[in-house]
Amino acid sequence: MTENRIAALTKALDGPDGLRFVRAPGRVNLIGDHTDYAEGFVLPMAIDRTCVVALRRVATSRVRARSLELPGRVDVAADGSDDARAVEPRWGGFVTGVVQALAARGGRVPGVDLAVSSTVPAGSGLSSSSALSVALTMVLGDTTGLELDADDVARAALDAEIRATGVPGGLMDQLTSVHGVADHALLIDCRTLAVEPIPLPRELTVLVVHSGVPRTLAGTAYAERRAATEHAADRLGIASLRDANLRDVQDDAFARHVVTENARVLDFAAALRAHDIGALGPLLLASHASLRDDFAVSTPELDLLVDAFVAAGALGARLTGAGFGGCVVGLALEPHAQRVLERTVEQYRSASGREPSAFVVRAVAGAGTVEP
Ligand code: ADP
Ligand code: MG
Repeated sequence: MTENRIAALTKALDGPDGLRFVRAPGRVNLIGDHTDYAEGFVLPMAIDRTCVVALRRVATSRVRARSLELPGRVDVAADGSDDARAVEPRWGGFVTGVVQALAARGGRVPGVDLAVSSTVPAGSGLSSSSALSVALTMVLGDTTGLELDADDVARAALDAEIRATGVPGGLMDQLTSVHGVADHALLIDCRTLAVEPIPLPRELTVLVVHSGVPRTLAGTAYAERRAATEHAADRLGIASLRDANLRDVQDDAFARHVVTENARVLDFAAALRAHDIGALGPLLLASHASLRDDFAVSTPELDLLVDAFVAAGALGARLTGAGFGGCVVGLALEPHAQRVLERTVEQYRSASGREPSAFVVRAVAGAGTVEP
């Protein structure tokens, strides 16, 4: 699959001369949402849906880019002087965002032609934006001579996304894209950025269904939740809700979600290490209930989709990502996985009148260069 895209990108850039390729995966978060920006724990995995970017240096002071999936040509200044929020086509904001993030770290991007191709569905909650930003950061970072380690790449890519969108996201998506390990989930401590790859039991299949409702977090609701958790930490006189315990947050539903979700992530990680598959489903369902009732980021469709997963025989399911639309992740035992997925889709379609899209995802290695 990557071979086909390498060929298509090579064609888009009129031949192989001087081309370099980087690929970066999207991600699905198994458990731990709205905990990353509170310095908490998350347990995502990088998935076999990836963004590939091809680059050639050219003797101009422009960064030009095209996408094999989205229309329009991006043509922005290599010195980052464009306004990332105003670049057209809109996805070009990520290009300028990356150029600026590298400039902020002392890196000067030369003139380049870029071509992008991604199999991460855009706007679904599988973080197509981070796959794009991480791939761009690596491939453009290389041209600057900056020595960026994996965490530097993740931070610069997040910086770029914030410049492009104005949404103050956490670092989970970018860290997952750089640190992914095949057949492993990643327990990430968002305070220390320590990453522990944990093997996924072979008999588990990870299923993702998009509700057919686009995420409309549009920054505002997300930023409000984030601000509320930061205020809660201030009131408690602590650096972040990572340091709170349940007693401290009993009367604050938003803060309570963060504290209980952190505990669920650690329990889930422990269950994976102990091969205690029976413990996983209830933790997913408890996470969904907390995101729905305490953190108030679910929607009627996401709730229906979780119910459909359970009725179809999944071990458990929960909304994944920021909420307000997007995807639900479910776990099923391998021999039943395809049936569970089909039944979930049927049941959800008839209950909601929406058209879902379904994916079976596998955990893959993190971002890196691709030899053509
Ligand atoms: P998500 O990250 O959940 O997929 P976002 O709204 O954060 O959703 O990011 C989607 C945006 O990422 C798109 O609107 C586009 O700007 C950019 N993007 C994703 N895939 C591509 C692609 N193949 N080519 C160009 N831009 C892309
Ligand atoms: Mg995104």
